[in-house]
Amino acid sequence: MATKSPIQKVVAKIRPVWIIRVGQEMARGMEVRADFEEQLGRFFDLLEQSITTGDPAWMDPILLDWAKSSTETELEDEPYQISFLINRMIALTIQVARETLTKQQALDLLAAVIPIYTYGLEVVARYEMETRVAHISSEMEKVQKRMERVDKSKSAFISVAAHELKTPITLIEGYASMMDDLMQQSKGTNLDSLLAGMNTGIDRLRAIVDDMIDVSMIDNNLLQLNFQPMQVSQMVDALCLEVEPIIRSRKLTMDIKDFDGNKQWIYIDAPRIMQALRNVINNAIKYTPDGGTITIDGRTLSGFIEVIITDTGIGISAEDQATIFEKFGQLGRVDLHSSGKTKFKGGGPGLGLPIARGILEAHGGSIWVKSEGYDEIKHPGSTFHILIPARIKSPDPGMAKLFDTLGKNEDQSVVE
Ligand code: ADP
Repeated sequence: MATKSPIQKVVAKIRPVWIIRVGQEMARGMEVRADFEEQLGRFFDLLEQSITTGDPAWMDPILLDWAKSSTETELEDEPYQISFLINRMIALTIQVARETLTKQQALDLLAAVIPIYTYGLEVVARYEMETRVAHISSEMEKVQKRMERVDKSKSAFISVAAHELKTPITLIEGYASMMDDLMQQSKGTNLDSLLAGMNTGIDRLRAIVDDMIDVSMIDNNLLQLNFQPMQVSQMVDALCLEVEPIIRSRKLTMDIKDFDGNKQWIYIDAPRIMQALRNVINNAIKYTPDGGTITIDGRTLSGFIEVIITDTGIGISAEDQATIFEKFGQLGRVDLHSSGKTKFKGGGPGLGLPIARGILEAHGGSIWVKSEGYDEIKHPGSTFHILIPARIKSPDPGMAKLFDTLGKNEDQSVVE
């Protein structure tokens, strides 16, 4: 074995003190891995090797290892940890040299190690900068992809919205021109049926525009809830009455279960929750072939009432289950857009479920779906779960007071 040169001896002399000091110092300020001392040993070995050979590139593997593990985990907040660590090492090396070596030895050591540290700083800084730039570019690429997707769904939305709005407008135009013809011929024909036709078109237009307004209110957190006591059973009964004619004409069966929690008085914005339930029930009707069954069941969970709406319809693929609650998540099939509210498979503007979700989430509830998949022959059906928070007190303090007094005066009129 070759005898050690003076500088190698000096380096060997400070090694134990250096490892302990750097280890302690770094452990204080930074999150240090268990194998840190071992890592410092490896660093020091390579430092010695660089000094002996005069080639700082010996340091490359450890510098890159450190820079990689630091930047991969901490890119978001602290990207320059290794440069910082090397700077601290320089300061500590000077300290240790001063304490353990003679002046001359210290000077010799510093003359040998400073260029290596400087090289190390350069390597790490370059790596960190490159990683940072790559990270920023990949973030920008992601943003760009997201914007492309937004752009696509925007134009898909415009095409579907135009299609949706055109149907009732054509209807109104037709009736208006028929009325015009009749007026020209000044026949005393009864215009009632024509007016009824126009009103259907106008109602449909209003419903679409209202949905668009609701979506924008939900998006901007502007949905104001007006909490009042209500029972789930009352809402379900009212909705069943609404859909009765369609149920009859489509030969569907509505199976309404009497479940636990059904008659509990809870504070909700009833018209809004009804809107959410209506959207789900209308979908169940739309996507279930004639002769099928829609079941409304539920249960009480701690702090919530869960309403479960099951149909025997065409079902929903796993892929679609993930997107149907997203705004315009279902814009793909423009051909299905019939503007029919309850026609079998009559696609709408794809706003019903996002609105239902917005309303439920604004209440502190949620909605999700389970389905074995999409199959137009086997009809696996879908089950929508709607979680409504069971508030027994009004979240609005003024209202709580009012209903408290009413409750007392009328002897438990509110809470069963
Ligand atoms: P739409 O206006 O298209 O009905 P929704 O937001 O109400 O919009 O529903 C989004 C999509 O989810 C529908 O187009 C349909 O593909 C699917 N969907 C919703 N409910 C059901 C259901 N009960 N059975 C099968 N598919 C459904």
